[in-house]
Amino acid sequence: MSKENKEKPKLKMAIYWGAACGGCCVSVLDVHEKLFDVVAAADLVFWPIALDTKYADVEAMEDGFIDVTLYNGAVRNSENEHIAKLLRQKSKILVAYGSCAHMGGIPGLGNFHNREQIFERVYHTTETTVNKEKIEPQTQVKVAEGTLTLPEFYNDVRTLDQVVDVDYYLPGCPPQTERLVEVFMAIVTGAELPPTGSVVGATEKTQCDECKRIKTDKKHIKEFKRPTEVIDDGVTCFLEQGLICMGPATRSGCGYRCIEGNSPCRGCYGPPSTSPDPGAKMMSAIATMIDSDDPDEIAKIVEQIEDPAGTFYRFSLPGSILRRKLIETHT
Ligand code: SF4
Ligand code: SF4
Repeated sequence: MSKENKEKPKLKMAIYWGAACGGCCVSVLDVHEKLFDVVAAADLVFWPIALDTKYADVEAMEDGFIDVTLYNGAVRNSENEHIAKLLRQKSKILVAYGSCAHMGGIPGLGNFHNREQIFERVYHTTETTVNKEKIEPQTQVKVAEGTLTLPEFYNDVRTLDQVVDVDYYLPGCPPQTERLVEVFMAIVTGAELPPTGSVVGATEKTQCDECKRIKTDKKHIKEFKRPTEVIDDGVTCFLEQGLICMGPATRSGCGYRCIEGNSPCRGCYGPPSTSPDPGAKMMSAIATMIDSDDPDEIAKIVEQIEDPAGTFYRFSLPGSILRRKLIETHT
């Protein structure tokens, strides 16, 4: 048998973006020189941001042809949903890669509004919009050359696992690159993988469990402030300084990279399974730290938190217990 025939066949890998900013796709390139290991072990068969591959190429593949797909981005429209279902069918392992696929991410904040409100703002009332004809995107438009189509914009943002079965979740905005390499090499080497449905590249501890900042467990908060209003001393817990830090409600695994950079955690790794709702966890953590027993004073202190819902569910609204804000529709 020739040497080539003895070599392990390369994996077939796909990377796709749904409703996302593109940062997760770029984060794959952050593996730097390890990219050579990735390319040696896997052929990229579909990656729209980097390769000229078409949806028809994926449709032509046999079911299960792709060994592993990293799907980043939430499901905001019918195209996202169609490709999520197609890639599920064609992939042996489907990974929800990054905060948006995992919990809804920043696009998931759209669930505080409905489609009608978003279209009204985007196509009619933004300060830079001139739209006297009140034109809005249509899913089909007939032109001389034929019919043009656009994906349908849904009322809700959904997580990937609200649309298809997901094998693994790799959280983060974006996931820390070292974690991606670890997970990828585990798949390549055939190492024993965790049970299907696991969050990988993160732990069940919280950021607070790993954080080296000084915590006193005393009641400290008399006032909430914005980061620009505080001269951080570099060592004291952000919450004890009156700054919102999502550490109590966020999985560790990123290497507490924001906190190491003297910036509070914003919660991109999502909540640990022991406290799945970040808003509930943060309210409980904050309640133990407010330095007052007077209900009126407590209410005034809590009112100082800027946009609490958007802050506590910044990366996780569609995947949270709340899922979305209920809004009466007029269409
Ligand atoms: S709240 Fe933030 S700063 Fe304080 S201990 Fe937790 S992670 Fe560290
Ligand atoms: S510290 Fe928090 S916001 Fe920053 S990367 Fe880690 S989980 Fe994400």
